[in-house]
Parts: sequence; C-alpha cells; structure tokens
Amino acid sequence: MKLVTWNINGIRTFGCGIKKALDALDADIICVQETKVTRDLLDARTAIVDGYNSFFSFSRGRSGYSGVATYCKDSATPFAAEEGLTGLLTNHAGAVGCYGNQSEFTDEELQLLDNEGRAVITQHRVQHSDKILTVTVINVYCPRADPEKPERKQFKLQFYKLLQARAEAILKNGSSVIILGDVNTSHRPIDHCDPNEIDDFEDNPGRKWLNGFLRDNKASPSADFSHDGEFVDTFRHFHPTRAGAFTCWSTLTGARRTNYGTRIDYIFADYQLAKEQFVAADIMPEVEGSDHCPVWGGLRCSLLSNSKPPPLATCYLPEFAGKQQKLSRFLVKVDQNPCQTESKEALPGSQEEAERRENINVTATKRILRTESACQTSKKTKTAKTSSKPQGSLLAFFKPQNGKALGSSHNSLKACPVENTPQLHSATQNKMTRGEETYNPRDNKEASLGFWKSVLHGPPPAPTCKVHGEPCVLRTVRKEGPNVGRQFFVCARPQGHVSNPEARCNFFAWVDRGK
Ligand code: ZN
Repeated sequence: MKLVTWNINGIRTFGCGIKKALDALDADIICVQETKVTRDLLDARTAIVDGYNSFFSFSRGRSGYSGVATYCKDSATPFAAEEGLTGLLTNHAGAVGCYGNQSEFTDEELQLLDNEGRAVITQHRVQHSDKILTVTVINVYCPRADPEKPERKQFKLQFYKLLQARAEAILKNGSSVIILGDVNTSHRPIDHCDPNEIDDFEDNPGRKWLNGFLRDNKASPSADFSHDGEFVDTFRHFHPTRAGAFTCWSTLTGARRTNYGTRIDYIFADYQLAKEQFVAADIMPEVEGSDHCPVWGGLRCSLLSNSKPPPLATCYLPEFAGKQQKLSRFLVKVDQNPCQTESKEALPGSQEEAERRENINVTATKRILRTESACQTSKKTKTAKTSSKPQGSLLAFFKPQNGKALGSSHNSLKACPVENTPQLHSATQNKMTRGEETYNPRDNKEASLGFWKSVLHGPPPAPTCKVHGEPCVLRTVRKEGPNVGRQFFVCARPQGHVSNPEARCNFFAWVDRGK
C-alpha cells in the first residue's frame, strides 16, 4: 500500500491529463491540498477520473480558495468517507464518525474551522497476513498563520487541536490513523533552512503543538515514551538525521534552486502502524510543478477495496451522477480533445483563470459529458499490489515545459493575464528579461498590477549588485506602511543561506520616488 501527499497549488498543476498525472504518482491513495477548487469550479474532468474515486472538500467562502481532495484507486475504494473534522458537514450515510471532545470550541468556532475545505477523511480496510485492519486516512491542509493577520494564528492552533482531538478519537475507537498533508509548520531546526534566523524558533506555538502531538523519534527505543504523543513523523522515522530535506520553497525568492526551504508536508502515522506496517517514507523534491513537492509512504499491508464508493464520492454529485441533468448539458458539444485549449494557460489554479473557467461553465460551451457509469457499482473486492518507487515517467510529467526551475522570473511572468492582453505580452516579456519582477508570483492580482505599472512607466535602469556584479531585479513594497508602493532593487539571485556564495547577496537600493 502506498500513499502520496502533495500541496499542488491549484488542481491545474495536473494539467490536461489528470489521470496520467495521478498514474505517474503511482500510489493507491493520493491526497492533494490547495486544489483551489470550489464546488462552483469543479468540472467532470477533475471529479471523475477513470480508475479512481475522488473525495473533495470545498471552501464554503471564497471561490477558488483552499480545498483538499483524496483520489483512491479503484482497488483502494474506501468504505467510509467524510468531509471536514467537526462532523457539521456530515448529513449523509457512510460517514467516519468519532468526533472526540469538542467542548473547548464554540459552535461558531467549529463551523468556521470546517468552512475552508481543509480536511477529507477516508476509511479503508487493509490486510496483512491473516489480519484485517481499519486504517483511517486524514487528508489535511492546515491553515497558514499570516503574520499580517494575527487572528489567523489562533485559528491555526485551533485547527491543530481539533485535528488532534479527531485523530485520537478515531484511534481510540480501534482504527489505525494516518494524517497526511500540508501542516504548515516545520517541526525541528533540521526541518528549516535557517532556524537561527527565526526568533524564538522553539517557542512557536505550532512547533510546541507538534512536540506534544508527535512521539520523539530522536530518543532511543529504550527511552521512556510516556510523555510523548501518539503519532510518528514517518519521514523522520526512516531518516532521523537527513538534513536539507525540504518540501516547500518560496517561489518569490527562487529558493528552490538553492534548496532554501522548509519541511512542512508530512505523513504522520499512529505509533503502532508506523512500527508494524510502514516500510518506507520519503520526500520527492525532484517533482516540480508546485511550490511544494510530494511526499510518499509505503506500508507492507494490502488494501481491500470496498464494493462501491461511500456517499461522499464526487461521482454521486448530481452534476456528475446523471441525475437532475440540466437541459443545456444535453445540448453541448462533447470536446474529444480538451487538452489543447488548456496547454497555453497561466499559472496553476490562478484566480483569473478560475473566474474564466467559471464563465465557461455558465455558457456550457465545452463541457465534457461524462455521466453514466461514473461510479462503478459492482466492483469485486481485490487487493492492491504496488511498487514502492516512483515511476520514471513521473519526472518527465511534472517538469516545467520551459525547462527552467520553478520560481524563476520566467515563471512569475506567466502570472500575467495573457489571454486578456495578447498585444502587450511580448512587450512585457522583453522588459522581464531585463530584470523586472513582480513581488508575489502566487497572487495574480498583484502580479498584474506590477505588470501594468511597469508597462505604463517603464522600469528604471537596473544597477548591478556589488558581490556578483549582475543586474538587479526591481521589486515593490506590498506591506502596508510608510513604504508601501515604493520600489527597490535587490540582487537577482535566488534566496539562500548566508554562507552560500551562489545565493542572493545583500545588495539593496531604493528607487528614487521622483522617477
Ligand atoms: Zn548579488
């Protein structure tokens, strides 16, 4: 049995061939985070993938925000599945149950914690020799504590506590538990590129929570585990001293090229499952396409497939189930080759693209009709055999098409609204290659703002940095304060450790306000 977790930074990282992408990841259960798919944006091609059942959790708030999805091979069909951690979203049969003690949360807090599409739980049966076990797989996208929004720190910690309460309740009820996903906290100094640069590294409340939640795998087997948590960080279990093993890098600073990152994506397993069933776990930093890389874990047990998917499966959603069909759906043309319209689009999961796609859905000009036989209702129970190594095709699949490392200025260029401004695109490209860069490649609105500013005013000439003697890049202060909107030059190299001569030097120069 093999699992993969990956923060894909938009479902569009999978491109036009989602089945090929999932097959390339070569796992029975693939958990993805930050799909940026909300119910209004979910299309048949993403929801219904041949050979898999999918289970989505959507943000109820902003469209195109957050979201997680679990894809299970047909040979790994779960017998129960549920969206969210609180149970408040569960009004259907086939739920997982075991909600734990929620008494420290108000009703409003519980509702908010499950409002952003951050958890999907699937429950599976596995076999090892004569033993049949229940394994519950909790796919989570834990909140990030935005330093500009102090109220999100509290939200993040509450999410952790709720996750722990739920996971421990399920474990107590007799199921093994795997928690995997983007946890958004690097645990130890070894999991961070520059822990000394962080004030009070050990005092971070997220790290303190991890300390209590996880069993200390630094300790020797004979150590007293009585004060430790129930769960094991499976990567560290197998690689206790490996340094530089990161899963997330800033695209803003191009830090993937210098491996200046953090390890914030994990596969946690309860101690007994980790000890008895896990045979391997590792990160996959060679897989590009997102600002995170995938992480995989292998278990010696085999999955037993349920005969049909539980009610949460997307194949039962009315828009995909062949029930309550809208008349327009019978009138649309079936596009035999939908890939071609997608291949030249902007960054994965971008907001503008999401809005554009939403409009397409409204007019229903090119919707794939895929309704009957979406759910296979009479699968035979069978066991899954998997290899524990990713396939060679995987690398080719997720390499950026232009061959450049993620986070290069070329990639941030793609965030410009290409479809809307074709006549200006090549002009921008020329300017970009001269050293222009927008401040936040993940935010299209900001990227396009920088783009328009540069087109309207023209960039000032770039100075060269003192250490490398190379042309600098122009950036704009986005942080609210006295300097907001001011522009400055910094070394164009990717951010890296201060000891790395190949990384960004400390050159900094304001652009004069008058220009
Ligand atoms: Zn430099």
